[in-house]
Amino acid sequence: MTEITPPTERECERCGRRDIWDDDSESWVVATVDGERRVGNPHCLHEWDINGAYNPMQ
Ligand SMILES: [Zn+2]
Repeated sequence: MTEITPPTERECERCGRRDIWDDDSESWVVATVDGERRVGNPHCLHEWDINGAYNPMQ
């Protein structure tokens, strides 16, 4: 048996945006790294490194 652990963070391979999963609001929130919010490019069609294999809304 392999237990599947949902990812708790993701990073865009194009613009460098980084999100972390917030259990309380059940949504992705922008991660803060070294005091800087990693919002990336707002016009980017984000290519997440988790490949969309995990869909929390299913
Ligand atoms: Zn992006």
